[in-house]
Amino acid sequence: MSGLVDIGANLAHRSFRGDLGEVLEGAARAGVGAIVVTGTSVTASAAAADLAARERAGPVALTSTAGIHPHEARTFGPLAAATLRELAQRDVVVAVGECGRDYNRDFSPRPAQRACFEAQLELAAELRMPVFMHERDAHDDFLAVVRRHRPRLVAAVVHCFTGTAREAEAYLDLDLHLGITGWICDERRGRHLADVVRAIPEDRLMIETDAPFLLPRDLPAAPSSRRNEPRFLPHVLRAVARARGADEAAVAASTSRVARSFFGLGG
Ligand SMILES: [Zn+2]
Repeated sequence: MSGLVDIGANLAHRSFRGDLGEVLEGAARAGVGAIVVTGTSVTASAAAADLAARERAGPVALTSTAGIHPHEARTFGPLAAATLRELAQRDVVVAVGECGRDYNRDFSPRPAQRACFEAQLELAAELRMPVFMHERDAHDDFLAVVRRHRPRLVAAVVHCFTGTAREAEAYLDLDLHLGITGWICDERRGRHLADVVRAIPEDRLMIETDAPFLLPRDLPAAPSSRRNEPRFLPHVLRAVARARGADEAAVAASTSRVARSFFGLGG
């Protein structure tokens, strides 16, 4: 047992610039053994890879993803595609993404989101890498794209899953993995997730913080900054175990095992 795996933390985010060392120490003390740092744009993915490489000898094993978030899809073009391809092939990069579709705020036009998403799925298929995917308020259009590409993808996770039981079922039917965040701890928006999480097969379930976002709402001693951190991953773990009526240690072991196998991490 080499610790929990946080499959999604935005550690290259500016809010971690001043104290990343302490954040990683805190994560290690809380039992987090590995973190996959999320890349959300070409620039952020390069920063995530640099950070993961630099902290390699640190208290937590870091790797990263290389991708373009749907919000950033309008920045996608031939240059971004070429840079992304290079980044994806760095040793420290273990998945393509985050990529997908987000109609919640439509920061990028939908046709651009689609083109950017499909290009990344093609890259993942070609490089035989797993995909770290994001979907918000775009289930049908997202599903249509994933369904078409799924036969060529080695593995793919819908991170920060917050949807309905029916949507989870559709993803599981495509043999996708699901990532659960502290959203499940939100008594206003996340209550339905308890039932959804109970129905996810053990070998498809992973956990994440999505730090610095999504600070669990029911955290006993929440930081005044409201910044979420990987050290709060055990809180997400407890909520997931409670929802499944399962032993916490068993869920810790299974989610870590699944994540290590999904991303090809050692340990
Ligand atoms: Zn996301």
